[in-house]
Amino acid sequence: MPSIFTKIIDREIPADIVFEDDTCLAFRDISPKAPTHILIIPKREIVSLDDLNDEDEQTVGRCVMVASKIAEAEGLTNGYRLVVNCGSDGGQEVPHLHFHLMGGRKLTWPPG
Ligand code: 5GP
Repeated sequence: MPSIFTKIIDREIPADIVFEDDTCLAFRDISPKAPTHILIIPKREIVSLDDLNDEDEQTVGRCVMVASKIAEAEGLTNGYRLVVNCGSDGGQEVPHLHFHLMGGRKLTWPPG
């Protein structure tokens, strides 16, 4: 069952897309928890970190690299956070692997 993020990849629903290549898509979170809150997702339908296989290494690496480039482009010179929620205890709601890039304010630790 494709998630809402597949619909964003396929342009079936709108999103504020900030980056795209053959491997990844990045778009602004619809309910931002920080002044900058961007989701970076692999275009391949991977449900969560628990569903990665060896062929996904480059894909995941690319998403992390893209996050770093977006952080620079967004001017997050004081730092930022890159988070992956995995499974229900991890707080994952959308079953398509995604990296939360958050910044633009002092973030607290640990998250709740
Ligand atoms: P999770 O809790 O799964 O780690 O995070 C899912 C994130 O996706 C949430 O921060 C939520 O606000 C965001 N989100 C859910 N539906 C949509 C949507 O349709 N469009 C966008 N841009 N973000 C969404």
